[in-house]
Amino acid sequence: MTKDIARLNAFPVFMRVEGKAVLVVGGGEEALAKARLLGQSSARLRVVAEAAEPELVDWIAANDAELVAEAFRPEHLDGAVLVFAATGDEAQDSAICAEARRKCIPVNAVDRPELCDFFTPALVNRAPLAIAIGTEGAGPVLAQIVRARIDRLLSPSLGALAGLANSFRGTVEKIVPKGGERRRFWNEFFSGAPARAMEIGHISEARRAATELLARRAGPATGHIALVGAGPGAEDLLTLRAQRLLMDADVIVHDALVPEAVVAMGRRDSERLPVGKRKGCHSKSQAEINELLVALGQEGKRVVRLKSGDPLVFGRAGEEMQALREAGISYEVVPGVTAAFAAAADFELPLTLRGVSSSMVFTTGHDLKGGTLPDWGKLAISGATVAIYMGRSVAADVASRLIEAGLSSDTAVAVVENASLSSRRRFHGTLADLPSLEERSDLTGPVMTIIGDAVAGANFERSEPLATHRRGKPAARQAEGAVA
Ligand code: SAH
Repeated sequence: MTKDIARLNAFPVFMRVEGKAVLVVGGGEEALAKARLLGQSSARLRVVAEAAEPELVDWIAANDAELVAEAFRPEHLDGAVLVFAATGDEAQDSAICAEARRKCIPVNAVDRPELCDFFTPALVNRAPLAIAIGTEGAGPVLAQIVRARIDRLLSPSLGALAGLANSFRGTVEKIVPKGGERRRFWNEFFSGAPARAMEIGHISEARRAATELLARRAGPATGHIALVGAGPGAEDLLTLRAQRLLMDADVIVHDALVPEAVVAMGRRDSERLPVGKRKGCHSKSQAEINELLVALGQEGKRVVRLKSGDPLVFGRAGEEMQALREAGISYEVVPGVTAAFAAAADFELPLTLRGVSSSMVFTTGHDLKGGTLPDWGKLAISGATVAIYMGRSVAADVASRLIEAGLSSDTAVAVVENASLSSRRRFHGTLADLPSLEERSDLTGPVMTIIGDAVAGANFERSEPLATHRRGKPAARQAEGAVA
């Protein structure tokens, strides 16, 4: 039956240690490392060390463990259910192992796999939930890497949720019939409203949601929409929460600007619905998107509505939230790294700069087309850093209106195409150069423009001049002025 699979030479089991004695022999750092690991359990820890190092002594005192300050004797093993030989001395560890084996107590010797009856795993602890990672002693570093990856994937609240599940288990077994119905109940418990409440630390709300779920006896699943910021494009600028929601999603509804690599981080069998929203692409209208989200919620789907950057910055999330509220569908918002921040990071550009700029404006520039200067124009003139979204086609208008209103044509400007991605391009110049952005046909990705005196504090080593006909790096000259 298990013919074609690689077989484990060490089989993972979870051993009951609550209230039982576990022995660690040794007084140095090896012993401390094992003590720390076991300290994550409710075992009674006994450390035998004739001369324990101060750090270990402190740890023992702080963690209610017992210190036996004697040289190891076989009697110390009595009553122990597990033994760790961690003296740091090979001969001594071998002798302890031999004694333990004689008394039929499983033993582990630090860094001596050949002497071990069992190995200790790398541990992701969400007690009562535990994930143990083992490599049969072959690759502790590998185990730690895997541990860190899994740790990132699992919500810190999972332990509390598992604890809550334990407190419901008895009742559930009494009133929810075994089989499909009970499975659906737990599915909804661990991924629906109780899980969401626990995720944001609302324990009483989680309990209430679970009670309600039980009252409904796992009827149709309730839908939930997460409006999630996908960040500016690089996969590793996604938040951990966004990643977790993507792994849980039944459906991912995404804009064209969200790169495929980010969408691909979703659960493999989740349905993906592109809704466009990019110039020249066939795309759904905002009203159609609102309707789609409401319909999916009503079908009981867990939906991730993935938007580039932050969902609340030029993302039309306001309309989607309103539609969901009106339809009574639960939703949440997960922030993301907005394009202005990614562009600033790519330019090492301080958005606020002491003594130069202490406020910033997020705008589109499209409102500069009318007859009156919008409020933010005055902010720009008084020194605010201005980040312009969707600003390529209005670059000339933005520049001329701001200059007309009194902003110096020498004001520094930074432009980033494809911020955060390896394909990014950076351009520097002044407000006088900005109109040339409209003529550049070589820019096909999304473009962020940042204007203001603080821009002069950026790093122009990797950027090209914005206006190709102008010489040098005019903004760099300003940088000195700004620092002085
Ligand atoms: N919600 C998004 C903005 C959506 S509007 C956010 O918070 O970032 C779309 C505009 O965002 C684009 O026209 C462009 O100006 C900007 N943008 C998005 N991603 C970008 C990127 N990787 N590099 C530069 N600008 C970007």
